[in-house]
This record gives sequence, structure tokens and C-alpha cells, in this order.
Amino acid sequence: MTPTLFISHGAPTLPIDPGPTAPFLKDLGRRLGSPAGIVCVSAHWDTPSLRVTGSSAPETIHDFGGFPEELYALRYPAPGDPALARRVVDLLGASGRPAAIDPKRGLDHGCWVPLLLMYPEADIPVVQLSVQSHLDARHHLEVGRALAPLREEGILILGSGGATHNLGTFGQAPLEAPAEPWAKAFDEWLRAAIEANRADELVAWRERAPDPLRNHPTPDHLMPLFVPLGAASGPGRRIHSAFGFGTFSLAVFEWN
Ligand code: ZN
Repeated sequence: MTPTLFISHGAPTLPIDPGPTAPFLKDLGRRLGSPAGIVCVSAHWDTPSLRVTGSSAPETIHDFGGFPEELYALRYPAPGDPALARRVVDLLGASGRPAAIDPKRGLDHGCWVPLLLMYPEADIPVVQLSVQSHLDARHHLEVGRALAPLREEGILILGSGGATHNLGTFGQAPLEAPAEPWAKAFDEWLRAAIEANRADELVAWRERAPDPLRNHPTPDHLMPLFVPLGAASGPGRRIHSAFGFGTFSLAVFEWN
């Protein structure tokens, strides 16, 4: 069974920032080896209903502003996989969640930034799936459950968001600042619940987690976590822990 992953992608500068996370992701790609394909759920594609990229050559979307010029020159020319996209739509449809193929949409930085580090050859087909941040964690968990059979076909189900993500705090502290206690407490709650396989507690994060709305004023960066969680069936583990700018967790979770 192919593992599932949740990656906190941090700032778009992740590939050029110092710190432990970029080297960690490079090692992770080498350790996991090459999956047959990747279904990537990014916080940065938020749609009213489920959408799946259908392009055979998805473009690299530079969906950020005000960052160093060199980031805009980066490209991630991984192929798409129209057949895998169709399979994703079929699995979601069979679970009662209609999804539609978007033939034009490319890969946003939530997907291509981590993949650029993990699989720099860009030779593994990538299909992107959107989040619905107006719907709850249970919806995203069920989306993951519907996609679980892909794990037996060598497909990597990857959620990309942020274990903590308060965008309003960006720029208030330097990259290397120590973690704020309220962000660290949420990060540790997440780790403990994932490692103890308490999916119901995770789904109820707004009631059960410490400082939920300070850590996620909007839920978009947490929702991608529930897809790999739902596609897995047991406890996960935190395989990387770091913070950027004092409030942005760079935690990575893996479920085997
Ligand atoms: Zn983001």
C-alpha cells in the first residue's frame, strides 16, 4: 500500500529558504521512491464543488505576489494523467460526491513547491484535486475514504496545506523565530490525535483543538489534511517538525 502524506508547505519561498524543511522533503522523495502517480489536494484550489485537473500537461501556476523574482522562473513540468483524473472522478461519484474535470487548470504552488523538492525530475504524473473550505472536515475525510483504493494502485495521495496557518501573522517575525506557544500547542494536539488515530477528535477540531481560530482563522490550509487521513486506515506519524516565522508549522505527517 502506498503511504499517504500531509505536507505543510509554508511560504512559497520554501525551495530557497534556509532551514530543515526543504532538505527533509528532498530526502522524503528519495525514501518513498516513485509512485505511479500523485493525487495532490492543495489549500490553494478552493472551489464550490469538487474539481479535478484533467490536462495532460498542466501549467505551473505562480499564484503568489511580492516574492523574489527567482520563484517566478521556477517551473514544474510534470505530466498530468487524464485517465487517473477520470478514475478520481469515478471513485468520488461512486461515493455520492460528484466531481468534475477541469481541463485547463494547472498546478498551484501548494502542489508544485513540495513536489519540486520531492521529485525534482518532474516525471511522475500529477492530478490536482480541489478543497471545499465552506464544507467541513468530515467532507474532506470522506473524500479521502473514497480515494483509498488508489493506494493499492501505487498512487500517492498527498494533502498540502498547513498544520497551523494564520496568514495575518506573516511578516511579524523572522523565518527562524521560535514557535509561538499557541501555535506549538495546536501543532502538538494535531500530532497526538493523528498518532493515536483519533479521527473523530480531529474532525471536531473547532471544538477540541486549542486556539482553533487563532491557528486557522480560515480552514482552507487544514482541510487538505483530512484527505490523506481519510484514505489511511490507522494511525499516522509526524515525520518532520519545524516552524517558520514563529507561527507557521511545517509539520509533515505520513500514514502507512
Ligand atoms: Zn499555502
